[in-house]
Amino acid sequence: METLPLGFRLQDRPCLVVGGGDIAARKASLVLRAGARVTLVAPEVLPALRADIEAQGGTVQLRRFQEDDVVGNVLVIAATSDEAVNAAVSQACQARSIPVNVVDAPALCTVIFPAIIDRSPLLIGISSNGVSPVLARRLRGRIESLIPAAYGRLASLLGEFRKQAKQHFPDASARRQFWESVLDGPLPELVFGGREAEARQQLAGLLENPAKPPSGEVYLVGAGPGDPDLLTFKALRLMQQADVVVYDRLVSAPILDLCRRDADRIYVGKARADHALPQEDINGLLVRLAREGKRVCRLKGGDPFIFGRGGEEIEELADAGIPFQVVPGITAASGCAAYSGIPLTHRNHAQSVRFVTGHLKDGTPDLPWAELVHPNQTLVLYMGLVSLGPIREQLLAHGLPISTPVAMISRGTTPQQQVVTGTLQDITDKLAATPLPAPTLIIVGDVVTLRERLNWFRD
Ligand code: SAH
Repeated sequence: METLPLGFRLQDRPCLVVGGGDIAARKASLVLRAGARVTLVAPEVLPALRADIEAQGGTVQLRRFQEDDVVGNVLVIAATSDEAVNAAVSQACQARSIPVNVVDAPALCTVIFPAIIDRSPLLIGISSNGVSPVLARRLRGRIESLIPAAYGRLASLLGEFRKQAKQHFPDASARRQFWESVLDGPLPELVFGGREAEARQQLAGLLENPAKPPSGEVYLVGAGPGDPDLLTFKALRLMQQADVVVYDRLVSAPILDLCRRDADRIYVGKARADHALPQEDINGLLVRLAREGKRVCRLKGGDPFIFGRGGEEIEELADAGIPFQVVPGITAASGCAAYSGIPLTHRNHAQSVRFVTGHLKDGTPDLPWAELVHPNQTLVLYMGLVSLGPIREQLLAHGLPISTPVAMISRGTTPQQQVVTGTLQDITDKLAATPLPAPTLIIVGDVVTLRERLNWFRD
C-alpha cells in the first residue's frame, strides 16, 4: 500500500490554500465541504472562491506565499501554476511535518486527495496514488451508479438506531445478523423511495420483534427498448437485488443478463397471439410470489405505463396489499427516435406527438382517426406492424396527405436495428419487400424527413 486512506476531520480547523485559480477553487471547495476554516494566499483570487471562503469564516490574503504561512495549519494545499512556489510550499510543510498536497505533483505530496463519492455520512474515496487520476474518476463513476444518492439517508437512519440495537443485541454477532437482515429486507427501498417515516417505524418494530416473517415486494421495472445502456440506475439496482425476475418477450437477453445471477427467472410471454401467460395469471403470479416473501422484479420492455399493462398489475397488487414500486423506463418511441435520428417534435415540423396502439380490436384498429390527422403532429404507432395496411387506409381516408413520410424501426436501439422509410404511398410495398421482425415501431409525420438531413446518422 503506497498510502493509507484515512478520514480527515477538518471541522473548524485551519487549512491553507496557496493559489487562487480554478484548480485551487476545486480543492478549496472540498476542504470547505468538510467544514475547514480556510486561509487562502495568492496574488489574485476568483471572486466566487473568495466569497465561499469568507462565508465560512476564512480569510483571503492577496500576496505571494511566504514560508511561515504554513505554520499552525492542519492541512496545506498548493495549487498554483508556478512550480517553484508549489515546491516551496511542499518543503515548508515537510520541514514542519504538516500534511501537504500539491496539485498534479505526487512527488511533492505527503497526502493525496482521492476521487470522492459523497453519500454523507457515508464516504468512499478512490485513489490511484497519483498514477492515473482519470482511471480513479472513471471507477468513481461506475461505483456511483451502483450506490444511489439516498445511501447517505439510509446510513443516517441506521445510525439513529445504533444505540438501541446495541441494547437489544448485546452480542456482536447477533447484532450483525440483525443488521444484515434489515439491509436484505425491504427497508432500504423504503428509504430510497423517500418513505423514511415508514422505514423508521418498520425498524423500530423490527427491534421489538426481530423474528417477523419477511414481507415481499414487487418492483415494476421499465427495462427500456433493448440497449442495456438505456437502463436507469434504479432499474439496475432492483434487478440486482430481486429474488425472482418475471419478464416478457420485449426484454432483451443482454438486459436479462444484468439481473442477479442466482435470481429465479420466469418467462411470461407475450408474443402477439402467443400469450404465454394470460394477464390475469401474471397478476396472480406476482401476488403469490410476493406473499411468499420474495422480492419480485417484474421486468417490462420500454416503460411499464406506456402500453405495458403496468396499471393493471399494480391495481391487483394494491388490492392484495402488496408493497410495490414502479420504475419508469425509456419507451420505444424515445429510444427508436433517438437511435434512428428522428426527433419526435421539432419547431418547424411537429408541435405535438401522439402515441397510439395499432393493436386490432375485432380485426380493425379502433382509433380516434380525426384527431390523428392533424398537420404538425407526429404519430407514433406501437404494435402497428400487422395492422399497417388498415391504419394507412384510415389515415388517408381521414385526410392525411399520401406524401406523408413514414418510418418503421425494427428492434430499435439493439445491434439488430433496421429502419425503413417511405411515405404513406409506398410504405406497405416497402414493408412487403423488406419484412421487418418484431418489435417494430412506426413513426408517421414530417419529422421523419429530418433523418436524411441529419446525415451524421448511420444505422
Ligand atoms: N411498454 C413498451 C411498449 C409495449 S407495446 C414501451 O414503453 O416501449 C409493444 C410495442 O412496442 C411493439 O409492438 C413495438 O411497436 C414497440 N416496441 C417495443 N420495443 C421496441 C423496439 N426495441 N423497437 C421497436 N419497437 C419497439
